[in-house]
Amino acid sequence: MRILFYDAKNYDKESFTGALQGFPGIEIEYIKSDLDPRTAALAEGFDAVCAFVSSDVSAKTLTILHQHKVGAVLMRCAGFNNVDLEKAKELNIRIMCVPGYSPEAVAEHAMALALACNRRLYKAYNKVRENDFSLSGLMGFNFYQKTAGIIGTGKIGAAMCRICYGFGMKVIAYDVYENPALKDIVTYKSLDEVLATSDLISLHCPLLDSTRHMINIDSIRKMKDGVILVNTSRGGLVKTDDLVEGIRLKKFAGVGLDVYEEETNNVFEDRSEEILETSVTARLLSFPNVMITSHQGFFTREALEAIACTTLQNALDFEAGVPSKNDVR
Ligand code: NAD
Repeated sequence: MRILFYDAKNYDKESFTGALQGFPGIEIEYIKSDLDPRTAALAEGFDAVCAFVSSDVSAKTLTILHQHKVGAVLMRCAGFNNVDLEKAKELNIRIMCVPGYSPEAVAEHAMALALACNRRLYKAYNKVRENDFSLSGLMGFNFYQKTAGIIGTGKIGAAMCRICYGFGMKVIAYDVYENPALKDIVTYKSLDEVLATSDLISLHCPLLDSTRHMINIDSIRKMKDGVILVNTSRGGLVKTDDLVEGIRLKKFAGVGLDVYEEETNNVFEDRSEEILETSVTARLLSFPNVMITSHQGFFTREALEAIACTTLQNALDFEAGVPSKNDVR
């Protein structure tokens, strides 16, 4: 079977080429362009396409893929909020994803952001490089015996709960479903209680209509002053304008973001002055207590290997026409 691999980076080629050895019969062609209505027709002659969180898998794109007889979109990521699932169903295009390839990779990055914000590591790094060894502006607080509030306790949230517990934190959480595996280390509370009593709030729920902008000026006002907010889930969970307002109100000791609302516009890949001037994410970067990374939570060797193997197994299941737990319904 032949797969057209969109938005291929060198690290993708490395991990997929390595994994392909275990999947004879699959052929991959890599292209730099991302999947969208302008590039979908390039999939002519391919059985499936491989796409990512940044891809535009809208109704328009799916219609073009369907015209070119592409039968599956293999998402090499856990999230699929960028896919028009109804249209895919109507066109009988199979959508498969890679849920939970390495929850620890993302959770460890969430804690890295929390620590970097708390202990001002970015500032410390720059100061020392400029031969300034003073400690001014670097004071943080102990995580030990403080309260971590985890919103969403699925695979990644659960890993984050375990990490926070390991730091000696009191771990409280909000989820629409309680995770029984966490019963010994987590106390579930209402969302408002988590917002009001946590010293560190970390977001790990998916982006849905019900969760979009769950962090807005009302929820920010409910938080403790001096809280650290970390988002490694999806940018749309946070209303960026309101976050800016919250930062101006001095609500946060630090904000660590691995995801941001404007991500799909590739705002930082196209760094034109005009875009940066109007970008609310760029405005966020002007605050000294905000640290943004570029959606790198998943980016570990182990996670990339797992993503490649699962995506290729999904391709085989699609080819064989067998149902898979990785089908997105
Ligand atoms: P998961 O499906 O295992 O867990 C999601 C949890 O959120 C579930 O327990 C679910 O019940 C809960 N949830 C759903 N609606 C909720 C609501 N309204 N309020 C609170 N909780 C709610 O998913 P996961 O594998 O843990 O991934 C979580 C998110 O992390 C993904 O949706 C994705 O957006 C993001 N992610 C980010 C990266 C990265 O590199 N930064 C990588 C992978 C995944």
